[in-house]
Amino acid sequence: MPIVYSIIAPIFNEFDNLPELYSRVKEVMDSTGESWELILVDDGSTDGSTDRIRALSDADETVRPVIFARNFGHQIAVTAGLDYARGQAIVVIDADLQDPPEVILELSRKWKDGYEVVYAVRAEREGESWFKLLTASLFYRVIYRITDVKIPLDTGDFRLIDRKVVDVMNSMREKHRFLRGMGAWVGFKQIGVEYKRAARHAGETKYPFKKMLKLALNAITGFSYFPLQVATYFGFISAGIAILAIPLVVFERLTGSQAFYGQATTLIAVLFFGGVQLISLGVLGEYIGRIYDEVKGRPLYIVRDAPKKE
Ligand code: UDP
Ligand code: MG
Repeated sequence: MPIVYSIIAPIFNEFDNLPELYSRVKEVMDSTGESWELILVDDGSTDGSTDRIRALSDADETVRPVIFARNFGHQIAVTAGLDYARGQAIVVIDADLQDPPEVILELSRKWKDGYEVVYAVRAEREGESWFKLLTASLFYRVIYRITDVKIPLDTGDFRLIDRKVVDVMNSMREKHRFLRGMGAWVGFKQIGVEYKRAARHAGETKYPFKKMLKLALNAITGFSYFPLQVATYFGFISAGIAILAIPLVVFERLTGSQAFYGQATTLIAVLFFGGVQLISLGVLGEYIGRIYDEVKGRPLYIVRDAPKKE
């Protein structure tokens, strides 16, 4: 029987969440009366999640395990799930039950109305620190402003994607992935559905500030040249100021003014522009490093163990 729904959950040390995740997904998906599979991508877990995933798949063949050789990160884990999914509607969901599986029914309703991407918008969030809320809110808004694709605000990776769109996304093999950006970039008929994001069922966040920053950098560099252009803008502005300053200084000297004498101003200017140049070099470095990664052409992930792709 062809599979209608593929549910993808990336797993990085979610030992205590797995049984609940499985039973809630099963309850919701069985209620649709249609065929489904649950793809659990083990992203290099070290807490025994791997064995739990295997046990779940031994007991129920709708669970298909994809086991990574090491931790490759959330976006790559979801990518692997998309590669292995066989369904007509593919749902990406967090394993910590922050995205309630019951919302899948709402997403699927919109899909049946003809939408090809139905993304879940976080109208409310429970159990997050103010720091996480602030940085997340800032993240979405900065990305929205400076990237070339309009990525919906307050929207994570929880979404339902039609097979057509997944096939297109699977053909995009860029190494530094920001799936929400890629999902917006491809187009198709898209719509958002609001939901209340729950608190984590168990365990701690696997997205510390460092990983969030990396994701933000991938989002920006992947979908915008703005940081590169900033150096150009700065160059024009400072060159403009310098050109304007020349007649001003000549005038000052001719009229015998003592203004701008001494080294402090020179020192400040040198330090400031030294800083701007180094930052610009760093920005260049971010892009060049990513080009280097693309050129190396390494695989996006390495699986130790996975079902056959179909
Ligand atoms: N995750 C992953 N690899 C990682 C980090 C996270 O597969 O390197 C998974 C994690 O197990 C969870 C999802 O990505 O299913 C979202 O992570 P988390 O809930 O920790 O992020 P938050 O909700 O705090 O932003
Ligand atoms: Mg979470």
